[in-house]
Amino acid sequence: MRKNSLFLGFIALLGAVAISFSAYLYWQTSPPDLSIEGNYTNPFDTLSFEEILYRLPGSIPILQYHILMTPRNSPWLAPLVKRRPKLRRFVLTSEEFRNHLSTLYQNGFRPISLDEYLALENGSLSSLKRLAPNTKPFVLTFDDATYGQFDFVDTNGDGTVEIDPECAIGILIDFHRNHPDFALTGAFCIDFSKVPFLQPSYVEQKLNLLLDYGFEIVNHTKNHTSLSRLFKKSPHALAQEIGEAMEKFESYLGYRAKSINKIAYPNGHISPEVKEAIREISYNNKTYHFVAALHAYGLQAPRPASSRFDPYAIPRIEMSDKNLEKFVLLAPHLMKMPSLTEKNTKD
Ligand SMILES: [Zn+2]
Repeated sequence: MRKNSLFLGFIALLGAVAISFSAYLYWQTSPPDLSIEGNYTNPFDTLSFEEILYRLPGSIPILQYHILMTPRNSPWLAPLVKRRPKLRRFVLTSEEFRNHLSTLYQNGFRPISLDEYLALENGSLSSLKRLAPNTKPFVLTFDDATYGQFDFVDTNGDGTVEIDPECAIGILIDFHRNHPDFALTGAFCIDFSKVPFLQPSYVEQKLNLLLDYGFEIVNHTKNHTSLSRLFKKSPHALAQEIGEAMEKFESYLGYRAKSINKIAYPNGHISPEVKEAIREISYNNKTYHFVAALHAYGLQAPRPASSRFDPYAIPRIEMSDKNLEKFVLLAPHLMKMPSLTEKNTKD
């Protein structure tokens, strides 16, 4: 029996050597033909990369996520959502979030950062060379630094923590690892009405880790208060609400807090006066400049070069299965990267 299997093994080895040798001979004698057949033209011959992107028509979906129900937080989060049904519309399970990413990926959507979105007006866009032909850019945002967005877990019970693979950050890191062309990027709109990401011992570590990974942080105010109501009370109250949040960010991030130059309106309350006031906020002898502000509602965001673009009222789409399909997957007129080459039909 043993003798038999040894013989079979030898025959298999002989076969493998013979196949490899024939393959070697084939590649030696027949180099692959890489030339493109037919007449193709490049319609962008005379344009720079920035000009090509600047001229692309179409809007860009900016997705807004809130709560993620993970296997770890569901034992107490599920009853809470049951008691407060109004929360339901803000909740997605880890599984549903993972499905959103897969669906977006399979449908050609690739994430870009808020800074990259804003740079589509006239900034440097060299980082967007990563977007393959025919892909559609979109932006990911997360609000309120709330349940399931960024959780640390002590898996071994020895005091060392790691990122919960079922929270939004864990899922995004894993998805990017398996799909390198799906960049690890997204903006976290953080307020201080409660401890950001709900684990008091790790706020500094988490905020820094967000920037380490290349995520963006957006000022979502100190107390998550309606800015238009505050402004009516007094312009100083508005400056304080945003300035105090900046001081909090500075206490955790130091000079890195200077990268925080956008605001997300709590509850989406906007007024023309607020839009004007938040461009430059002076508080405690410091001045902060904000280049853009995010709305809490809306449809697809216009490309920044369009006349419809208002940097201080950037619309976002609240995410659910239904909204993903209706306002993202089936949305008409989205910006799409051009094809690699176009067949010259005149020849
Ligand atoms: Zn909020």
